[in-house]
Amino acid sequence: SREWHLVARPLGWPNPEDFALREVAVTEPGEGQILVRNVHMSVDPYMRGRMDERESYIPPFRLDAPMEGGAVGEVVASRAEGFAPGDHVLHGLGWREYALVDAAHATKVDPDLAPLSAYLGVLGMPGLTAYAGLLEVASFKEGDTVFVSGAAGAVGSLVGRIAKLKGAKRVIGSAGSAEKVRYLLEEGGFDAAFNYKDGPVLEQLRKAAPEGIDVYFENVGGEHLEAAISTLNVHGRITVCGLIAQYNATEPTPGPSNLPLLIGKRIRMQGMMVGDHGALQPQFLQEVGGWIRSGELTYRETVVHGVDHAVDAFLGMLRGENTGKMIVTL
Ligand code: NDP
Repeated sequence: SREWHLVARPLGWPNPEDFALREVAVTEPGEGQILVRNVHMSVDPYMRGRMDERESYIPPFRLDAPMEGGAVGEVVASRAEGFAPGDHVLHGLGWREYALVDAAHATKVDPDLAPLSAYLGVLGMPGLTAYAGLLEVASFKEGDTVFVSGAAGAVGSLVGRIAKLKGAKRVIGSAGSAEKVRYLLEEGGFDAAFNYKDGPVLEQLRKAAPEGIDVYFENVGGEHLEAAISTLNVHGRITVCGLIAQYNATEPTPGPSNLPLLIGKRIRMQGMMVGDHGALQPQFLQEVGGWIRSGELTYRETVVHGVDHAVDAFLGMLRGENTGKMIVTL
């Protein structure tokens, strides 16, 4: 079985040489364990943070040890009650072909209910992030105008969908290419969208939101945050979900220069961690699962094939090569 190890801590943008694909022996499960053949694995922005040595909400990846991350696969051997060969599970030991998983850390998933990869995206962690970040953290209400950055990505595309389905007045998205903007407008359900590389975000956002915005769903940071603060209406709300524009920065990144507006406009800005919102999971699965079955919610995935291309997929995601969730299919 092959697995990806981090072999050097990247400074700034990671390089392929910071990773190594290594061959290891597959061991039989011990008591309470299952052996899983991974079918799909996830590459996510937060993994970049785990490659650094610094303190965070989640410990750094160890050097010369397999990296971790969301994965779905098929049980091939089990010494755990309730799990049998042929079952499909979601677990946290991605970045490898075969995973020896403590059954307590695996969740059974139903491949008949949704394609297995959906449990890493629209029906998984990014989906719950979008759902909870919009409905709980941003206190979204019908009639709100919503702006989301990283709008063509896994979380962002769903924020747009959910906002529309929940009665947003107007949904605006920004993304990094003309093709993504076309996707948002033609397929993604967005009312307006722009390419943040085409010109100042503030100018483009003002044009797209002539009556201002009520909610800003932050995935990017930097210039986007400053533009959103300037465009938010009184009692506007910001969910700080991610700040991907600075994940590879080697220098402190400039902050917004317009923070006094938070006072006058009584803007509420709140960070979120998807792990805090587990209680919403059943409602999320029921509602979003229902929209998928009824055809009201469509989604895209970008699939890279082969465990040997997992690092390419991760780096490609950081560069914006994905529309919807970036998935590695083994
Ligand atoms: P995406 O599918 O959105 O992939 C990342 C995207 O980020 C790329 O496709 C790229 O799109 C965009 N991007 C990269 N660099 C920049 C940049 N400098 N400026 C603007 N956009 C950039 O990833 P996810 O949906 O998984 O994650 C989206 C955000 O949500 C991330 O910030 C992530 O850290 C955060 N997150 C937070 C969670 C939480 O609990 N707080 C949980 C899950 C995700 P483009 O072509 O448009 O540039």
